[in-house]
Amino acid sequence: MTERVRLALKSVADKTDEDEPVISYTTRFLKDYGIPETERCHELAELALKVRICQKNPGHTAFCAVSSFGPLNLPPDCRDQRVVHYLRLFSRLAVRLTTIHTSEERQGAYKLLAHGDDGGLGSRRLASGFAWLPGETSEMKCPIQDCPFDKRPHNVYGYIRVLTNKHVVYNEDEALATQGEFWDEEVRGSAYSASSRRILVKCVGLDFCQEDNDTAHLKCVTHDPWLCHDLKQEMSQLRQRYNKIPMDTWERAKNLCVTVSHPHGMRKMITIGRHIRLAETSSRSHAHYHTCATCPGSSGAPVLYTSPEIKGAVPMWLPAIHSYYCPGDDINCAFK
Ligand SMILES: [Zn+2]
Ligand SMILES: [Zn+2]
Repeated sequence: MTERVRLALKSVADKTDEDEPVISYTTRFLKDYGIPETERCHELAELALKVRICQKNPGHTAFCAVSSFGPLNLPPDCRDQRVVHYLRLFSRLAVRLTTIHTSEERQGAYKLLAHGDDGGLGSRRLASGFAWLPGETSEMKCPIQDCPFDKRPHNVYGYIRVLTNKHVVYNEDEALATQGEFWDEEVRGSAYSASSRRILVKCVGLDFCQEDNDTAHLKCVTHDPWLCHDLKQEMSQLRQRYNKIPMDTWERAKNLCVTVSHPHGMRKMITIGRHIRLAETSSRSHAHYHTCATCPGSSGAPVLYTSPEIKGAVPMWLPAIHSYYCPGDDINCAFK
C-alpha cells in the first residue's frame, strides 16, 4: 500500500467515529478547501508545459494510457482479463471537454470553481466528461449558428448526452460555448471513422444541472455520421462485458476505484485507487472520497467504484463524477 493511501485511510479511520453532518455541496467544497480540477490555457500548445511542471502528480506515474492498460495495473484481488476488457471499453465513453466562456451569472463558490488550479489563467477551460446515449438518435438539421463545419445547410446526428460538473459548464450560455472530443488511441475495426481519431461533439444545450452534486448533463450533436451508431454498439458491448464479470470479483475488489480522465487536457488516462468513504449531501446525492490520481483537467471524469458501504448499488456500473481535490487529506471528491 502506498504511503499516500495509508495516510488517506488513517485520516478516514480518525473520522469514522464522528457522525458526518449532511451538508450542501458548497459547504462541503469550502470545508474541504476544495481545489476544482479544471485546467486553463490560452493555447493548447501550453498544455505540455503544464504536464511537466505539475506539482500534484510530478511525473504522472500513477496514470496509465488506455492502450497500455493491463491486468498488472489492477490490484492483485481483481487481476482479471475480463475486468481489463471492461475498463478499456468503458474508457471509450470518456471525452475531453473544452469551454471558452465563463458566465457572469456564476454565484458563490461557483465563481471560484470556474478558475481551476491556477486561479483562472487562460481563456479555455479544459475538463473531462462521460458520454451516453439517452435514447434513440436521429439525423437533424444542424442547429449551430454560423457552423464552422460547413457554411451550406447540412445535417448532424444526436443527441449524445455528456455528463460533467456544473462547475465546468454552469449554464446554457457556457454550454453553447462547449465542445467535446472522443480522443482515442484504440481505434480498431469499424469503430469510429477511420479518418480521425478525434471525433468532435458540439454542445447545443444544457439538459439538466444541479448545484448540490455539481452535475451538468450536456446535450450534444456530432457531424460524424458513424459516431452515434458506434456509441450504441459500444454501450451494448459494455453491458455484455460487464455481465460476464462474476459479482464475487467486485466483492473481492473491496473499495476499488477507477477514473478515466484527460489530465491537463492531454491524452486519456486510466487511474486506479481506493474508494475511501461516502457522505450524503443535502439533496440526498453522495460525495465519494477516493484516492485515484487526478490532475487539473480531470474535473467531470467518470469514477467507477465498489463500496461495501452502499447497499443495493450495482458496483462499477454507473459512475460518480469527479469534482475536486481536498489538499488537507490528499484525497479527491466525486459526486453521484
Ligand atoms: Zn498533473
Ligand atoms: Zn454544423
